[in-house]
Amino acid sequence: MKNKLLKKIAVIALTAGLTIGTCLNAFAVTVCLDPGHGGVGSSGPGAIYPPYIEKYLTLDVASRVKSELEAAGITTYMTRSADVPLGLAERAAYAKSVNADLLVSIHFNASGPHDKFGTEVWTSAFGNGLITGIGLGNYLLQQFTALGFTNKGVKTKLGENGDYYGVIRYGTAVGIPTVIVEQCFIDNPIDRTIMASKGAAALAHADAQGIINYLKSLGVATGGAAAAPAAIETEKVTPTGAASTTHYGFPIDPAGNVTYSDGSGAQAVFSAADWNWLLSQWSYTPDPEAMLKTLPAADLQKLVTEHAEGKR
Ligand SMILES: [Zn+2]
Repeated sequence: MKNKLLKKIAVIALTAGLTIGTCLNAFAVTVCLDPGHGGVGSSGPGAIYPPYIEKYLTLDVASRVKSELEAAGITTYMTRSADVPLGLAERAAYAKSVNADLLVSIHFNASGPHDKFGTEVWTSAFGNGLITGIGLGNYLLQQFTALGFTNKGVKTKLGENGDYYGVIRYGTAVGIPTVIVEQCFIDNPIDRTIMASKGAAALAHADAQGIINYLKSLGVATGGAAAAPAAIETEKVTPTGAASTTHYGFPIDPAGNVTYSDGSGAQAVFSAADWNWLLSQWSYTPDPEAMLKTLPAADLQKLVTEHAEGKR
């Protein structure tokens, strides 16, 4: 990427008749952010550990990173700006279509035994992708460790077709250095404690500042991100009493049981208590049912079952 960036700077210098030094104040860089997951279906929501649903968290963080990068004068795009499904190849193709210099895919982690914690950055194992990934990754990790997260390092992983992770493989294939930033583990008490105290805004600030510091190290960015915005505003919404349907039209029978249907037509029936417990998991959002309603019925059923077993 460095060569491409330097070429861009040179072009600006020639075009404008300015010195390179002056041009270093201009950000001739395009960053494409990729909020992981989206939409309904098996991989749509990503990790689900109330109050966190990965697909919303990635979109929230990426949107905040975009604002900060733009405030620092960096052209920034996002592969998705709504809760929609998007294939991994499509994400890379979009980055290519906007002529991105970097593709930064934002994810949140979880592990089966819930005992893993910390921030890790995945990058291509090859060529310029590897060099860029190590450089950018370390600047990002510096920011996340400052927030209190454990540095799990910059990593590569190989599969049968080269890089294991699809978005990295597709990004690399279209010539864009691509990293996955696994911000932290949303199922682990250590990371959840940091998340709860710092908020998504602090994570976004870490991502933005890491990217900016990396670009500065290449001599292509001189600005800084704005101060970290305040933590997410929370609003408590108390579910209303029994009605014939819920706010989003899920039928409620006379006993208070809610029949939930997801986008694929799968259904699950929840008792009033279970439904209210589900809503309570997202009570910090203005509309908890809006959060629930894009999740697969099976995932909600699993949450309720785990709650009954005392695992949640
Ligand atoms: Zn993910």
